[in-house]
Amino acid sequence: MKDMDVNAELPEGKLFLAGEWRDGRGAEITSIFPADGRVNRVFRGASAADGEEAIAKAKAAQADPAWRALKPHERARLLYRIADGIEANAERISRIQSRDTGKTLAETGALAASAAGTFRYFGAVLETMDEELTTRRGPAMTLSVYEPMGVVAAITPWNSPIASDAQKVAPALAAGNAVILKPASWSPLTALELARIVDAAGCPKGLFSVLPGSGREIGNLLVEHPDIARVSFTGGTETGRALAVKAAQKLMPVSLELGGKSPTIVFADADMDTAIAGVLYGIFSSTGQSCIAGSRLFVERSIFDSFVSRLVAATERLVVGHPFDPATQVAPLIHMDHRDEVAAHVAQALADGAELLTGGRAPEGPEYDGGSYYLPTILSSLPNTARLCREEVFGPVLAVLPFDDEADVIAQSNDNDYGLACGIWTRDFPRAWRVGQAIQAGTVWHNTYKQFSVSTPFGGDGASGIGREKGRQGLRAYMRQKGFYTDLTGAPIPWAGAAVTP
Ligand code: NAP
Repeated sequence: MKDMDVNAELPEGKLFLAGEWRDGRGAEITSIFPADGRVNRVFRGASAADGEEAIAKAKAAQADPAWRALKPHERARLLYRIADGIEANAERISRIQSRDTGKTLAETGALAASAAGTFRYFGAVLETMDEELTTRRGPAMTLSVYEPMGVVAAITPWNSPIASDAQKVAPALAAGNAVILKPASWSPLTALELARIVDAAGCPKGLFSVLPGSGREIGNLLVEHPDIARVSFTGGTETGRALAVKAAQKLMPVSLELGGKSPTIVFADADMDTAIAGVLYGIFSSTGQSCIAGSRLFVERSIFDSFVSRLVAATERLVVGHPFDPATQVAPLIHMDHRDEVAAHVAQALADGAELLTGGRAPEGPEYDGGSYYLPTILSSLPNTARLCREEVFGPVLAVLPFDDEADVIAQSNDNDYGLACGIWTRDFPRAWRVGQAIQAGTVWHNTYKQFSVSTPFGGDGASGIGREKGRQGLRAYMRQKGFYTDLTGAPIPWAGAAVTP
């Protein structure tokens, strides 16, 4: 199928507001195809009035016994139907997502499969997660029980839409909440396709809304609104920080999945071929637009020159091309504005004294016309304190640095505000264990990178965020915990007993 044929599949550009497809009343949103700059859709996003209406309807739907009184295994059925719907539409979702973001079909296909798995997993967790009968320490039976929070807002970025949407919507719905999803303005269409599937799966009207719209307007409304009980946010660190301040004013729980500047560490004893493949995948897949991109590479000094020269040669063999071409490994960046930002980071690094080993520019040729392509780029000769090694680029740009020993690489890796992920390449497992434990990171990969399992909690520390998603506890993150004491004696509390029966 040609990408032109996808036009007919693209969601129309209406909001999914409390079970109805409606024209938005807010600012205009434009989704473009990053491979050539063609417009996918232009439409009006949600206004504050749209947001207010969605929240009011979500609140009513969440409180309705038709939803609220469902038993866990009954609620789980909706999640299984959504998973089935995503699976049945996986190719279509993949194509829409590739048009919305410019990612390759291979990547967006994997993201669709992962989203289906996420809904299925949280359905299963819901069915199997027990509440707790806690150890008695007095004359009462003591329970710890879990309840939904109410209306949850999910605010997501543009880089992996269907997967990050599912990571929030699935546990939040499973937990018995209503959910309002606000996707990023650069990739609004994928979430609307998810809405179509959730609706077709029989989700009660009002329980789920998808409101594309400006972050500053609709995103902010969701964060500040008194009827939003929890916000689950994935995006940039500065946005997350500002959001956390507002959440603190409301004393509202919030989870923040933010940016990263993740170290990848190659020891001299590593298997070179697998390490090179892992480093390439870690930084250049998704064109580097990945929170967990391994963007700082530390190589043991004794192999630094040989490893880096092999890495540069392999980088230059990567296929930069159209997202619909199965041979493509590096697709365009999301937007021309983002390409300008990436290029500005590289220009700054060069001004700071970096040596350009490869890339550092857009590819040339008619096949790249109008597309926001950027070549995989490797820079060396900068200290770990340079801006390039401290700031997230969110593009295909790798800084390479030498290290002397374990202590040196641990110190350099941790000398950074972020704490999202780390890759360690060594044949020495005890060393990987020692180093992995010493590094500030929510996830450590040993002899692999960017592998995910929905059953393994994920999140960051420091400037990379607060909280964890996925895993069995991921369901509880969307629930309130309540202690429940029930008396086992049938007698008045002794303190007051004499006063009650003189
Ligand atoms: P972003 O600019 O922070 O935007 C993220 C979301 O927040 C978008 O939906 C955005 O809406 C919305 N938003 C913007 N301003 C807001 C406000 N004042 N109040 C409420 N919502 C607001 O991030 P991005 O550029 O889309 O995504 C890239 C970033 O996400 C990178 O830093 C990356 O590392 C991070 N990320 C982290 C993870 C993780 O799991 N740790 C995963 C993926 C991405 P608009 O689009 O309308 O501005």
